[in-house]
Amino acid sequence: MKLDDIPGHEGYGAPILPGGEVARSATAFTRDFVGYLAACSCGWTDRRQHPPTPEGAKEAETQWLRRHATPLLAAAPPSWLVVKSNVLCELIVNLAAERPLAALKLLSQVESWQRTLLDQAVAAARRNGASWAEVGEAMGISKQAAHERFRSQVPSP
Ligand SMILES: [Zn+2]
Repeated sequence: MKLDDIPGHEGYGAPILPGGEVARSATAFTRDFVGYLAACSCGWTDRRQHPPTPEGAKEAETQWLRRHATPLLAAAPPSWLVVKSNVLCELIVNLAAERPLAALKLLSQVESWQRTLLDQAVAAARRNGASWAEVGEAMGISKQAAHERFRSQVPSP
């Protein structure tokens, strides 16, 4: 199972071999297996064992969706919006090459709304129960950096 908004994560029921070893993919050699574990192409695996039946394989995929994909999706911007953001960036790179002063004016406008939106998004994430570690991870910075940067603007929930 694959979802567009979380590239690099493909969920599947990984066959559990009799020795307890977990096959690395659903299509690995699996003549003798005792059940399925929810697994992801990124290396994540769940602990709960599902029966070695087609229903068990389905249950494992559902488990992947619930335990692994759903939290990732919550932190992933929609892919169509990422595409738009990349297009905007490319257009501004071109503008900066041709008309640098026009690009500067536009970038200043973007910076002013970006700062406001960033504060609002951090405040909303904290109100929804996100930890400083989760805020930092979403921004690609450490938990400490996120806390220090936003604690004064963002009231504690
Ligand atoms: Zn994954």
